[in-house]
Amino acid sequence: MSSTNFDFTTKVGVLGGGQLGKMLALAAADWHVPIYALDKARSFPAGVAVQQFVEGDFKDYDSVYQFGQAVDLLTVEIEHVNTDALKALVAEGKTVHPAPDKLEIIKDKGLQKQFYARHGLPSSPFQMYADAPAVQAVIDKGVLNYPFVQKTRTAGYDGQGVAVIRTAEDKLLDAPCIIEPLVNIEKELAVIVARNAKGEVEAFPLVEMTFHPTANLVEFLVCPARVPESVAQRATEIAKQTITAYDICGILAVEFFWTKSGDILINEVAPRPHNSGHHTIESCYTTQYEQHLRAILNLPLGSTRLKTGAVMANLLGHPDYKGQVRYEGLTNALAIEGVKIHLYGKKQTKPFRKMGHVTVLNDDLDEAIMIAKQVKEQLRVVAG
Ligand code: ADP
Repeated sequence: MSSTNFDFTTKVGVLGGGQLGKMLALAAADWHVPIYALDKARSFPAGVAVQQFVEGDFKDYDSVYQFGQAVDLLTVEIEHVNTDALKALVAEGKTVHPAPDKLEIIKDKGLQKQFYARHGLPSSPFQMYADAPAVQAVIDKGVLNYPFVQKTRTAGYDGQGVAVIRTAEDKLLDAPCIIEPLVNIEKELAVIVARNAKGEVEAFPLVEMTFHPTANLVEFLVCPARVPESVAQRATEIAKQTITAYDICGILAVEFFWTKSGDILINEVAPRPHNSGHHTIESCYTTQYEQHLRAILNLPLGSTRLKTGAVMANLLGHPDYKGQVRYEGLTNALAIEGVKIHLYGKKQTKPFRKMGHVTVLNDDLDEAIMIAKQVKEQLRVVAG
């Protein structure tokens, strides 16, 4: 594939067949670019949208290596993949975006934090420990004081590897981890930024996240974020510096804490389409999925201009239900102007599982939030 003459038959392999892979494949269908996905079962969300679904384990060397042989270009919809196989493929000349060594940094929160420190990118201070006894030892010595936040270095997602430790009663996570101060957060923000192989960079408008009080998952995402212009500019600038420092080709979601004292700190990044960019499907000139494809295929990046204000809510499995999924109140929700519903096709629900999302389009964000709340109350993801 030459960088000036794009071949729309380029086979793009995606490691992971979840909802992000599905939405990436739907975007690719606009150009008829063939998407291949690798994941455990064809029944996963991307199964209906891709040209080829290869059943296998993206954490397994042989599965990833063989999958890579069948495609022209590789990308990911999750960072916890077998990077050794990706490195072998790169050594053989295969194009892989984002580069496997960057995935290795990003999938380890300790390495991420070291990266920000090394590159002068703002993030809270941290220490790394091997396990719970090592953390307990520094508490006992009086070196580490409550409260603090403990995060496992790898394999945490959706808040599962994160513990706020306030007193000796709180249970420490027993795994390689980082410890950081409990940040006094004004708002959590995110910027999705894209970079192509030429080094061109474009950022999507800043979004503001509100969190579900018990599940520690994003509840609402509001775009544009209701923050002073200076905060939006600073976060956007840091996001652009971050993707450039990583030298990533593709998109990067940069999550921030805007602190009560006015600092903007990087919390973590994801080198792939992200929950905080779902709204772009309806609200922006270019979606995050199309932008990722443009970036990895070395096409001109698209305009990230916002067409309308938007509020996104994840459709989570009801906390009291587990089993064959059933959606209550779907028809009513669909009848409301500006309500766009996405279902991921997961057969089984369980408490707080991400089963879909709803985007509410409205230039009046207060009204959009009100509608989103109404939809969340009516639309229940239950079982049986
Ligand atoms: P995950 O990778 O599971 O999404 P995060 O590192 O993003 O985990 O943490 C999940 C949530 O926990 C954050 O969105 C934030 O609400 C809270 N959190 C994480 N780190 C801190 C911190 N240092 N101070 C205060 N809250 C935090």
